[in-house]
Amino acid sequence: MLDMKWIRTHQEQVEAAARHKGMLDFNVAELLETEEQRRELGQRVDVRRAERNRASAEIARLMRQKQSEGAGGREELAEADLREGQVEAERGEWQAEVEKRKEQVRVCNTALVALEAELAKVDARFQALQLLVPNIASPDTPIGASDADNVQIKVVGEPTAFVFEPRDHVQLGEALDIIDIPRGVKVAGTRNYYLKGMGLYLHRAVQQLAIDVLADRGFTVMDVPLMVREEALVNAAFFPGGKDQTYELDGENKWLVGTSEGPLVSYFANEIVDLSQGPIRLAGVSNCFRKEAGSAGRDVRGLYRVHQFAKVEQVVICLNDPQVAEQMLDEITRNAEHILQLLELPYRIVAVCTGDMGSKNYKQYDIETWMPSRGNYGETHSSSSLLDYQARRCGIRYSHPDGGLQYGYTLNNTAVATPRILIPLLENHQQEDGSIYIPPALRPYMRGMASIPAR
Ligand code: AMP
Repeated sequence: MLDMKWIRTHQEQVEAAARHKGMLDFNVAELLETEEQRRELGQRVDVRRAERNRASAEIARLMRQKQSEGAGGREELAEADLREGQVEAERGEWQAEVEKRKEQVRVCNTALVALEAELAKVDARFQALQLLVPNIASPDTPIGASDADNVQIKVVGEPTAFVFEPRDHVQLGEALDIIDIPRGVKVAGTRNYYLKGMGLYLHRAVQQLAIDVLADRGFTVMDVPLMVREEALVNAAFFPGGKDQTYELDGENKWLVGTSEGPLVSYFANEIVDLSQGPIRLAGVSNCFRKEAGSAGRDVRGLYRVHQFAKVEQVVICLNDPQVAEQMLDEITRNAEHILQLLELPYRIVAVCTGDMGSKNYKQYDIETWMPSRGNYGETHSSSSLLDYQARRCGIRYSHPDGGLQYGYTLNNTAVATPRILIPLLENHQQEDGSIYIPPALRPYMRGMASIPAR
């Protein structure tokens, strides 16, 4: 979410961000008009409420006056008899005045029912439109329409050369009896799989390696809820846009997370966090569930695009200082690189263009790892800086050194996502004899094995 005051004075910039991110239906003018309607209606409601309150106060005053006159009247009965005619007239006037005020209250109430209903409608529309405002993109983000426009900025290692005919991860998994996709599909439908024996060990080993690396680097490692309230996903800016990608739990008003980023960011929702000792570094370990709507026919072979996977995710909350955010983006990107280097995998980093980055992101790098079966790099990590976009939705504030409470900046990056990372691991590390080389960093989590032997 962006600050409304800022949007009003930077309308063109917001329009450009939406256009560059391919959000052609987004209309800033409609948002601003709705906000204005909401303001006007709010004022009309306030005026009517004030009028009703004044009339009610007047009725109360007239009642009090009547009561005190009544009390005095009883002591002066004889005198009152003499002035009967005058008293009758005064009672009539009093009655008329009370009726007039009561009518005023009735008219105000009727008007308020209609106005408040209209205000609620306009307010809901405003809130909905506000949630659709994209984040702006950083000035150094390449402008482009799709991943074809991403810009390579770093290459580490070389694509693996083989002196034999290499097999892809599906063939390797079957030959080693560590991946079973046909039975995954039989039991759970397309884009599902079983990992068996050393396949399961590898899946858990990469996660445990990532957990240890991040814990050593000052991250608080966390197991997170996998079924969360809608609010948590709105707060973290996955909703409303990502609803079609998310599994809803029928009748529960809960959703299965697509990444632990949602529960990690929402962990501090509506709280004042302490950033006086430096940024908050969290690492979420979770299964992730994705519908992959719109991906029909894409990446259908193997483990690349599946409905259920596991991920160790980094989330950082830092001061609202662009320089600090840039340093943190470098830090979480380097953490992921370190893990890839421990896995001895060749990779590259691309600056993600506007059309390929999420609407919530300000700046994004993807890390792509060499996948021999694709003859190309494939995305394995996504490193993003969001400025205060998520913190505003979530209400994550901190006490700024210059005084006052301010929204923090948030960032996130994959540390490892598996089974996708098993694709480069198996394919790059396959040996001519059919075995798989296990890099030393993984061996402590693989019962000390230096390789998965051929069968
Ligand atoms: P994201 O949370 O969308 O930035 O994705 C982070 C990483 O999770 C990706 O780079 C992939 O490694 C992995 N990933 C995302 N979606 C899937 C999927 N459907 N199947 C397998 N891995 C995925």
